Amino acid sequence: MKLIWQVLSLVFLSASLDAEEKKNAVSALEPMPDKLVVLTFDDSVKSHFTVARPILKQYGFGATFFITEGFTFTTNKNDYMTWDEIAELNRDGFEIGNHTRDHKGVNLNTIDLLEEQLTGIDIRCLEYGIPPPISFAWPGNGIEVEALKVLRNHGIRWARRGGFPEYPRGGERGFPYEQGLDHPLLIPSAAIPRPEYTFEEFVETLKGARDGKAVVLQFHGVPEGEHPWVHVPRETFERFMAYLHEHDFQVIAVRDLARYADWRIEPKDPMAVVEARKAKLGQ
Ligand SMILES: [Zn+2]
Repeated sequence: MKLIWQVLSLVFLSASLDAEEKKNAVSALEPMPDKLVVLTFDDSVKSHFTVARPILKQYGFGATFFITEGFTFTTNKNDYMTWDEIAELNRDGFEIGNHTRDHKGVNLNTIDLLEEQLTGIDIRCLEYGIPPPISFAWPGNGIEVEALKVLRNHGIRWARRGGFPEYPRGGERGFPYEQGLDHPLLIPSAAIPRPEYTFEEFVETLKGARDGKAVVLQFHGVPEGEHPWVHVPRETFERFMAYLHEHDFQVIAVRDLARYADWRIEPKDPMAVVEARKAKLGQ
């Protein structure tokens, strides 16, 4: 009788393992706290190392640096980090994310190149002792739902987009990330600071970090080199970070979302929440 019971429980156990694993994963999650900010920096800009790094270390903030060798990365070391500097960021405990080798926009015409574009960054990471990235940022903030499976197959768990498609591309506005509603590979930026983005707007953006929502910020250079349209002056950046510190915001990297959200759980329709927000905006 005992043996039969053991065999039966084994059969039951293996059959239900997937569901059970999922249940455990979900129950182990902590509720998303208010005042949660995810800090991201795109395009391997030099000031990420020279300006942002010491400030983030001073406050004990986490952050993800989305690395690409696009633009003039390979020759212009005034405006872009070296791989040694990127490796240093990893050793500091920051997350190194994948932003494609050539900053290649992802669309139906380029989807076949995505795997190679991702691998290009992985190889460099391996060379410099950096773990293979599990977070991705959509180049140019364009998205392609057909590419979600390519990212997944590559081992990407989280992917950050801009404020598009709820808002037009090239703007600075977006929505806070809503766990369970936003697909883990389509995490929206709540703001993409540009020269005209004010301190008051920043404070307003941060109000979105409550009720199970996190504010994801997408910075470029602080200051910029090659892309003046996404420039944020050093003083402004310092003021933003001081505000986060003084007001007790918890500032994390993209991968740290795993504490509050399960990257394996995807909404059935990845665009449903996007369409709902667009409808709300009256578009
Ligand atoms: Zn970029």
